[in-house]
Amino acid sequence: MAGSPPRLAVVGGCNVDLVVEVTRLPRPGETVLGGDVARWPGGKGANQAAAAARLGATTTLFATVGDDESGAWLLESLHATGVDTRQVARSRRPTGSAFITVTPAGENEIVVSSGANADLDLSGVDLAGYDVVLTQLEVAATVVDEAVARAACSVLNVAPAVPVSDETLDRCTVVIANEVEADALDLARLGHCVLTLGARGAVHLSHGREVARAMAPAVDVIDTVGAGDAFCAAYAVRFAAGDDAEAALRFAVVAGSLATTARGAQGALPTTEEVEAWLARGS
Ligand code: ADP
Repeated sequence: MAGSPPRLAVVGGCNVDLVVEVTRLPRPGETVLGGDVARWPGGKGANQAAAAARLGATTTLFATVGDDESGAWLLESLHATGVDTRQVARSRRPTGSAFITVTPAGENEIVVSSGANADLDLSGVDLAGYDVVLTQLEVAATVVDEAVARAACSVLNVAPAVPVSDETLDRCTVVIANEVEADALDLARLGHCVLTLGARGAVHLSHGREVARAMAPAVDVIDTVGAGDAFCAAYAVRFAAGDDAEAALRFAVVAGSLATTARGAQGALPTTEEVEAWLARGS
């Protein structure tokens, strides 16, 4: 990356993911015995901030965790990936948690308790000085709207698929959605929308018209959890660094695909050098 690294602000959710493997999912009222609990750092805000920091951006996370052991653990793990966590507030509510049961076939059931994420407050926060502000929909709609309104340049990942107002969408520089999330969007209305297409890569639409497309490289897929987060972070980082729409798309598709090659949302976050090596060999 030539010159100084891009400055990215990520506004979003931070969760502890608690994962238990079961041979089959329980029916209502039923108890099944599972394996040992695995704890992973998660939440789209935290995942995207970690991915951006790994790609070399100066990354500041605006989020709220609980004043509890889980919150301290998340902060430590984010700090270790190079994320600036000084703007992460602590709240009296418990740290956000995702309770995930998963079968060996990959079927899962997930319950999310937003907890402290609901207390995220951007009052007094200056977002105008960042090259890009990257936001998702795991925090209150009012916070999303504020983040987008105050950003000089905003990338909104409309995940998870919850309603978002046309006023907020109209203010975004770029909206990123997967195919499920795109169903709820009026694509003809959006100036710049990037749709991720899983193993088929991604496409950039302007008012519904295709302006760029990038195919995903063939990789050995282990776990697609977090691929979308790696994609969004990579897109925002390259956009902040001054790449044009096509170059940012190509880079983000490779970053998303490389993120599928290990388990966990933050398990295989690629570096800029790794992505560029794939791009150089014509992936
Ligand atoms: P989400 O994870 O949000 O549902 P997608 O499934 O569209 O989003 O994936 C986001 C990006 O991750 C894709 O654009 C692609 O780069 C990469 N990706 C996802 N699944 C695969 C796959 N099976 N093979 C290669 N790349 C993938």
